[in-house]
Amino acid sequence: MSFRADVFTLFPEMFPGSLGLSLAGEAMKRGLWSLAAHDIRDQGLGKHRAVDDTPAGGGPGMVLRADVVAASLDAHVALDDPRPKLLMSPRGKPLTQRQARDFAAGPGLVILCGRFEGVDERVIEARALQEVSIGDYVLSGGELAALVTLDACVRLLPGVMGKDVSAHEESFAEGLLEYPHYTRPREWEGRAIPEVLLNGDHAKIAEWRRAEAEKLTKARRPDLLGRL
Ligand code: SAH
Repeated sequence: MSFRADVFTLFPEMFPGSLGLSLAGEAMKRGLWSLAAHDIRDQGLGKHRAVDDTPAGGGPGMVLRADVVAASLDAHVALDDPRPKLLMSPRGKPLTQRQARDFAAGPGLVILCGRFEGVDERVIEARALQEVSIGDYVLSGGELAALVTLDACVRLLPGVMGKDVSAHEESFAEGLLEYPHYTRPREWEGRAIPEVLLNGDHAKIAEWRRAEAEKLTKARRPDLLGRL
């Protein structure tokens, strides 16, 4: 049973997008995960397949209709589907590496992408949608946020990354930002690779990397320290 994503959007042509390339794309070809993008407009109303309407109480913009969104979800996702059902939303809980790891350990995700001013509150409640944000800024739609969320999850699926070990040491995995990397040439524009990385002493190297990671985290993201 592989990780399965069903995405609901007004722009299904935005999928798989970048997820069809590189690591995620290869993994999809190998059947490690799958993705279906569903056009909410298929359940739109009337000749024009309307999906939105003006906000109750007035104000600018349009709101995605609860009945249309629910019909779209219900056409493709059984009510007892075990997967978390997400609504991408700037009001949501910020996505973290820990959350991505939890999602990746499960059966997959159902993701609703908002557009316009957002989605009628009643369908969020009625279908128990969990709101997830990718950061404190406003996008024009949930599609990029869905791609970001899925990218963070898919690369953690078993067998997707070349060496599974690479997921353990990277940024956030242990509540720290990652240490700096170097590769050949040994000297470039007068800058040398730190000596400790060249002498093959693995304990020393691990110690240096840990110290660098702590230094970087203290300087750039002190809020991360002590969060775990
Ligand atoms: N009026 C809303 C913003 C709507 S933006 C508000 O002020 O909260 C349109 C859609 O883009 C949203 O419904 C959501 O699906 C998506 N979106 C925008 N910013 C996002 C973010 N930071 N994280 C996740 N989704 C976002």
